[in-house]
Amino acid sequence: MTARIPMKTPLVEIDGDEMTRVLWALVKEKLIQPWVDLKTEYYDLGLKNRDDTNDEVTVKSAEAILRLGVGVKCATITSNAARKVEYGLKNLHPSPNATIRAILDGTVFRKPIAVSCVRPTVSTWKAPVVIGRHAYGDVYKNAEMAVPGPGRVELVYTGEDGTEKRITVADMTGPGIVQGMHNMDSSIRSFARACFRYALDAKLPVWFAAKDTISKTYDGRFKEIFNQVYETEFKAQCEKAGVSYFYTLIDDAVARVVKGEGGFLWACKNYDGDVMSDMVASAAGSLAMMTSVLLSPSGAAEYEAAHGTVQQHYYRWRNGEKTSTNPVALIFAWTGALAKRAELDGLADLAAFARGLEDATVRAIEEGDMTGDLARLARPKPARALDSWEFVDAIAKRVGNSVS
Ligand code: NAP
Ligand code: MG
Repeated sequence: MTARIPMKTPLVEIDGDEMTRVLWALVKEKLIQPWVDLKTEYYDLGLKNRDDTNDEVTVKSAEAILRLGVGVKCATITSNAARKVEYGLKNLHPSPNATIRAILDGTVFRKPIAVSCVRPTVSTWKAPVVIGRHAYGDVYKNAEMAVPGPGRVELVYTGEDGTEKRITVADMTGPGIVQGMHNMDSSIRSFARACFRYALDAKLPVWFAAKDTISKTYDGRFKEIFNQVYETEFKAQCEKAGVSYFYTLIDDAVARVVKGEGGFLWACKNYDGDVMSDMVASAAGSLAMMTSVLLSPSGAAEYEAAHGTVQQHYYRWRNGEKTSTNPVALIFAWTGALAKRAELDGLADLAAFARGLEDATVRAIEEGDMTGDLARLARPKPARALDSWEFVDAIAKRVGNSVS
């Protein structure tokens, strides 16, 4: 065997739960460690360990990403009442992704992995639609309440010097519900910057959409800051690189996306990004083919799969079944992180390996070796669907052929 590819700086490796934890170890053992002398700083975010450390391990892992620059994360369980019983937990903790996102102050970019044998449901799409999701505020940090009967609902702001601003939300004529949300100019500015940086890097046009005709102050501020960041910080670079930018209303954007050819970055507010990334993933094929990267304004990056821990497959695996769970998004989380590390540390061999592993994965699928979720969609149909272990072996064989 030839010498393994060396690394300089360790990757922050964040392990997780259930079926993705099983696949995580498999991908490392069969697809990375045979070729790369892997260096990682390891954090175990398995649910039990998060509980045992009072979630400190989650905070430490995010700080490590800020310190070292690049992390790769497995899917993790967000605890709830049922999980508390299942794992005998002391406490319920917030979603690890939310905790990490808050520390990195990042924007999440999601991009489907295209394979020629799975056509998107939207027949006009020729290239992937990439979603850039603002990951702070709005309905995800809201205050809401039910009101029991008639009365006035108001929004009140009290400045640090005691000055007050007050407006009426509604004069309720009966029982109902109210909600208050916020965002910060600084966070919107970081979001816009992250989108333009990503677009310049990937050479993609940028679309940003909101609803400023209805929400003149709130969505109007998003539009204003986005335009301002473009005009003052990115316009010259974008024009030079041939990267265009335009703003439109969210309903117009949705219509254009479904009639368009793809191949652009769709910058979305938090809720729009949540909903539209699931739509784009499903229309592109399978949730297991969606990559996700969180980019912080400091330049730090965290790579992960967009899907969850695939709980039901895990229970079947525990009962001895070799499940046909698709590891592609996990593989691309590793290749994304290794490629970023290679770029920062100037390691050409490592960059070539990451590209080679991605090519081998796509080639395996296009040559008919795939898991059940893709076998259901692929044309031509493969003779049979592989289980995860057979599929990983099929990729390893192709990486081996291209390396030796
Ligand atoms: P999920 O794990 O994404 O799985 C939902 C369904 O999607 C699966 O039952 C499976 O469908 C299909 N699927 C997803 N990934 C697949 C893959 N790699 N290969 C094949 N099929 C795949 O979502 P969930 O069941 O709603 O959530 C499970 C746990 O994940 C929860 O505890 C949740 O908190 C956590 N979660 C974590 C993250 C994260 O860490 N980023 C994100 C979302 C959810 P079939 O059953 O039809 O095969
Ligand atoms: Mg969602």
